Amino acid sequence: MEKVNLEWAQIGFQYRKTDFRYIAYYRDGAWDSGRLDDGNMITIHEGSQALHYGQACFEGLKAQTAKDGRVLLFRPDQNAKRLNNSARALLMAEVPEQMFLQGCHDVVKANLRWVPPYGSGASLYIRPYLIGHGENIGLKPAEQYIFSIFVCPVGPYFKDGFAPIHLTTTDYDRAAPKGTGAAKVGGNYAASFLPHELAVKAGFTDCIYLDPKTHTYIDEVGTSNFFGITKDNVFVTPKSPSILPSITKYSLMHIAREHFGMAVEERPVSIEQLDEFTEAGACGTAAVITPIGSITHNGHLHKFYNDGTSAGPVTTKLYETLTSIQRGEIDAPAGWLMDVAV
Ligand SMILES: *Cc1c(COP(=O)(O)O)cnc(C)c1O
Repeated sequence: MEKVNLEWAQIGFQYRKTDFRYIAYYRDGAWDSGRLDDGNMITIHEGSQALHYGQACFEGLKAQTAKDGRVLLFRPDQNAKRLNNSARALLMAEVPEQMFLQGCHDVVKANLRWVPPYGSGASLYIRPYLIGHGENIGLKPAEQYIFSIFVCPVGPYFKDGFAPIHLTTTDYDRAAPKGTGAAKVGGNYAASFLPHELAVKAGFTDCIYLDPKTHTYIDEVGTSNFFGITKDNVFVTPKSPSILPSITKYSLMHIAREHFGMAVEERPVSIEQLDEFTEAGACGTAAVITPIGSITHNGHLHKFYNDGTSAGPVTTKLYETLTSIQRGEIDAPAGWLMDVAV
């Protein structure tokens, strides 16, 4: 397989058209069989629910080349389940899990020349999405849906080393207490652009959201979940109904327990008690883990490991273990890797 000619280390995280996408249509109460095509445009009615009323959700996962040449998808069944949680939250047609998995498999296989080689640090980002569309003006769920998956190669996240980020809390909320925070739906992200921009203008990497009801507990970072490592080596991550359940986070919890014998707690994390943590990180598919150097809250700057200047040892070993599993270098728990037969 001749790979495309790209500087894998330099490609960054940006859209790039690849050879094929997967696309399936739902009409008259049923999905068609889905197929690959070479397009990257969709034509939908101007009144479509996805455009006006936010009836849209998405997923994100990665494929990587293993040392032995296999191409591995990380926990795609979890993304299939989460997409359907999002679909149910917005009264959308669900995507059969088998169709989701087959679509991911087929689109990666059709784009093998775009899958970065082993050792490049780059990976193939997979973006499934589901939208409601059709002739409409009223406020009601769509009768037609498109489920599509496109892929693009993305570069290594930490080109300049495993460097900590600096966060500030925000007065804005990304989701309401009984809202859609736990679903990966488009509207949550439109609502996060402004607080993100304000944080960046104030000199931070990003903002961290507090629980929308009391603004006293940490929720998440808006694209990634929070975790902290206590002085007693406990992996702690917030429990809240308005957090998007990160597959990376649940995988790290498993690794902390099973590989490192750590205690793991999912519970409210007070923004006033950051002193309990020696290390902190943000986790999600794109970066796996981003070390958190500091959090600024109400004018008070709290620094984590090494005065916020480098990643701590526990964060680093969790990162190395999970990324090794994703590359097939150490044994994965049963069912974590889907091999794209080549
Ligand atoms: C996708 C996402 C995450 C990370 O989830 P992963 O499954 O680990 O990629 C975290 N927070 C939000 C708000 C997200 O949309």
